[in-house]
Amino acid sequence: MKKHNFSAGPCILPKEVMQKAAEAVVELDGIGLSLIEISHRSKEFVAIMEKARSLALELLGLEGKGYSALFLQGGASTQFLMVAHNLLKKKAGYVNTGTWSLKAIKEAKLFGEVVEVASSQDQNFNYIPKGYAVPSDLDYLHITSNNTIFGTQIKEFPKTNVPLVCDMSSDIFSRQLDFSQFDLIYAGAQKNMGPAGTTLVVVKEEILGKVGREIPSMLDYKVHISKDSMFNTPPVFAVYVSMLTLQWLKDLGGIAAIEEINEKKANLIYSEIDLNPVFAGIAAKEDRSNMNATFNITDEGLKETFETMCKEAGISGISGHRSVGGYRASMYNAMTIESVGALVDIMSELEKKG
Ligand SMILES: *Cc1c(COP(=O)(O)O)cnc(C)c1O
Repeated sequence: MKKHNFSAGPCILPKEVMQKAAEAVVELDGIGLSLIEISHRSKEFVAIMEKARSLALELLGLEGKGYSALFLQGGASTQFLMVAHNLLKKKAGYVNTGTWSLKAIKEAKLFGEVVEVASSQDQNFNYIPKGYAVPSDLDYLHITSNNTIFGTQIKEFPKTNVPLVCDMSSDIFSRQLDFSQFDLIYAGAQKNMGPAGTTLVVVKEEILGKVGREIPSMLDYKVHISKDSMFNTPPVFAVYVSMLTLQWLKDLGGIAAIEEINEKKANLIYSEIDLNPVFAGIAAKEDRSNMNATFNITDEGLKETFETMCKEAGISGISGHRSVGGYRASMYNAMTIESVGALVDIMSELEKKG
């Protein structure tokens, strides 16, 4: 039996995508060769890369608006330094909403002055700071749209005249936004798009080329753009599976359709957390993430029973991150409402036992 996979990442992918990906490893679309043994310059793979790039822009509503989509390597963690390397001339602003923001800040400091514009560190990042001022002399402002570890999500984005850079690793393609408010978006594939190994970068080309420093080729967005995301051998399998997931999402009705499902899933688990005295939410209500729900058990005596029940029902991957504790149910795009229902059933059964 396939388990209910609540893993925070690498994460669940659509069943149909998995099936097709497995087939392509053996033989790609009847060409007599495996996806992972053909040249990345072959017409088959070039078409896959182009499809992945255009689907990304299409789903985000950014086609023909001066953006380029790239599938790079090195994870979102490499973007922490690449963003600064390419955009930080003197001073950048960062909103500190957790572990990933802190890592981004650390790398940016290698390239210039970093101002922490706002932070929620005072309460172990259980909320999203609001109402802060953004200085107008920044090279860019960096934010993290969804804080995977703490279960918080930005609902309203800061209005600013400086370029806006967003780490969307754990909620890209999950909800409708005006994506043109961002000048650069990046996301490691393994949270909502594909296997680990590639990172989607969507960048507005006009913000590049302004720092006046030499940038090594592999770290230069302009180089990757000029080579259509094929400067060197791309991670072909990760790009292919990401393309399949994006196609799956398009066929489903795009971001609008998935957002509706994601809201239903989130409502289901959060209403259980709020109504069931055995559980308590960790993140501030108004900032709760639709992707990662974090919660504690209020009666430690029921912990073992809860975990045994989860195990027996095939619920996998709900332990909280070590820096938060408790539990975390990650409900990315490919998770069905039935799987969330399976977890919620156990939570309400536990209340009866308590
Ligand atoms: C997982 C995650 C990262 C790190 O991604 P890697 O691809 O492992 O480098 C960065 N930011 C956020 C918000 C994440 O969830």
